[in-house]
Amino acid sequence: MRLEKLNREIEIYLKEKQEAEPLFRFSGELFRLQERYAGQIKPHRSWSREQARELFLQGCYLLKDAPPAIAPGLFRSILGEIVEAVIRHFPRAEPLRKIMRQPELTETRLPQFLAGSNLLDSRELEKQVRAWGWEGDEPVESSLAAGTVKDALAPFYIALAAAVREEIDLALWGEGFCPVCGQDPGMALLNDEGARILHCSFCRTCWQFPRLECPFCRNRDPQRLGYFYADEYPGRRVQVCERCKSYLKTAVVKEIGREVILELEDIFTLELDHLARREGYRAGRDLALLQ
Ligand SMILES: [Zn+2]
Ligand SMILES: [Zn+2]
Repeated sequence: MRLEKLNREIEIYLKEKQEAEPLFRFSGELFRLQERYAGQIKPHRSWSREQARELFLQGCYLLKDAPPAIAPGLFRSILGEIVEAVIRHFPRAEPLRKIMRQPELTETRLPQFLAGSNLLDSRELEKQVRAWGWEGDEPVESSLAAGTVKDALAPFYIALAAAVREEIDLALWGEGFCPVCGQDPGMALLNDEGARILHCSFCRTCWQFPRLECPFCRNRDPQRLGYFYADEYPGRRVQVCERCKSYLKTAVVKEIGREVILELEDIFTLELDHLARREGYRAGRDLALLQ
């Protein structure tokens, strides 16, 4: 059902932003592919409901010390499909195909690579991928290659996050980062009741967070929190914090008039990212593929 909505939403956005068609189409395909694989993964939970509650109250995200097991063969299947999808929508990215021959990503060496460092830290991942020699391979630079690896890891986290949502009350969570995977929110929305919901664009968990507080530095000084908007994007705001100079794009459901899919909103409002950066703000997360 969600996939039907996804297709419908893509068509709505395309009417307004035809020039971003490859990005919307790719994003839809990536979304479907990740959901399909996530549905095949049997997540292993290493905590009880009680332990999860404890962790939440301490401000520890669930996967902090218990990252999901990544089956090397399955990871490679996912990666291979994503690489082909990227190339189908962006033919110039053809050199990306050689990532499948990268020694670190072979089935035997993959566990070592995955255990080696915190690969969810985009900067860290990009540093590793850069060492594989992607520079000069324009337009397939290390940020695209790293983003693709991260996209292929996502289904394992999406599967776990879906299981977590079914059993654990996320209302206990009061931090600005994702309660499941620990990533910073990629986008936010103000729902029908005006509550602010943060969204993890990696594992797709949503959680509520105070409206007048910066999720990145926890600044609550109303004088140093604000937002800007652009007339071409009604119902969209860019919330900014003057203390840590971060920004977060926010969709206001009441003003837009429908429940949007934030992954697509993110593409639709890319110009707002450029505006925010030009004003000296930085995103609290990774935009590798979209830059
Ligand atoms: Zn997450
Ligand atoms: Zn801040």
